[in-house]
Order: sequence, then structure tokens, then C-alpha cells
Amino acid sequence: MEKFVLKQRKMDSLLDLNKKVNVAYINTCTETEGPYKRVGIWFQGCDILCKGCCNPDLQPLVPRHIITIKKVIDIILDSKADNGIEGVTLLGGEPTLQDNLGILCGELKNLDIGIILFTGKRIDEIDEKIRNAVDLIIDGSFEPDNLENERNLIGSKNQIIHLITERYSGDLQWFYDKRNKKIEINYDEGSGFFISGDVI
Ligand code: SF4
Repeated sequence: MEKFVLKQRKMDSLLDLNKKVNVAYINTCTETEGPYKRVGIWFQGCDILCKGCCNPDLQPLVPRHIITIKKVIDIILDSKADNGIEGVTLLGGEPTLQDNLGILCGELKNLDIGIILFTGKRIDEIDEKIRNAVDLIIDGSFEPDNLENERNLIGSKNQIIHLITERYSGDLQWFYDKRNKKIEINYDEGSGFFISGDVI
């Protein structure tokens, strides 16, 4: 019976890895999207539609690069081996619109990859499966009349940093250190040029 349960779990996990997400672009190694070297993943699609959004091209709910969770994880693990990345930052678009985001986050947690999630929703609106897997959440919609001028990478003052685990509890200074206020111009074969970092 125990063997059957283990086999079933393995099969479920394999099926999960074949589930897909809609990605706009990926930066395989960046130092502009949070502490340490990270993989930045921008998801396509957002229904929050904040006025003054810095990524309006990521709002349309259209297919962009539909790729499996296994492929995303392979990209992350390759970058860990090649660049020594510590974790990933999930942005968009609205990452939580991805039906399979909880599965991706759960797999990354099992691999001890740190996860920072940017969301335009409030933290209490986020699916529990996602909340239980990530390490840090920055939540809230962008308010153009309430611009942030202290914290790097965060667009408006209403957006709150929530430590979900202790993983980044010693790293919050990163958001206040002006040396980290940078932008990067990236190139992705499928999407062309895109800008990341502190664009506000
Ligand atoms: S939640 Fe983010 S991606 Fe969506 S509209 Fe607001 S700023 Fe843009």
C-alpha cells in the first residue's frame, strides 16, 4: 500500500511539472529584482489595470510564451549552477492569475529556491497554496498619486513588504540602499528588449 501511495505521488508530481504558465519574459540572472542574484520571471496578463502601470504591455490576457513548469524550473536550476542565483522574483503582469503558480512555487520551495512575489492584489486575496510556498510578498496595486521615494523597486507607498518566512528577514535593507536603485536593459529572443529594475 505504501509503495502504491509513493508511486501515485511521483506520478502526480510528474503531471504537475507538465502544467503550464504564461510567461512574458525571463531574466536568468539579475541583481535589480531583490537581494542576491535572482532569476526574474515576468508573467503575462493582469486584470487590476492600475493607472500609470509601468508594464502596460504585460496587461493583456493573451498567450505569450506558454511553457511547462518543468521548463521554468530547468531554467532556474541552470542559472543556479551557472550564476549562483539565490532565488527568483515573480512579477508581471499579475503572477497570481496563473492557475499553476502555486504548483511552481511549491516545487521551488522543495528545491530551497527563495521566492519573492510582487502582486497587485492584497495579501489576503492570494491563494493559500501560493502564500504557503513563498518567502516574501510585496502586495498592493500601484497608486500613481502616492509614489514611493524611499524603497527601491516598490512603486507606491501603499505597497507593503510582508515577510512570510524568515529567509529574507536580514535583507530588508536591500530595499532602502540607494546603490540597488538600478535598471537593466535585457534582451530575450522571443520578446526583444525589455527593461527591469527600478523603472519608476
Ligand atoms: S498590478 Fe502591476 S502589472 Fe497590473 S496593472 Fe497594476 S502595476 Fe500594472
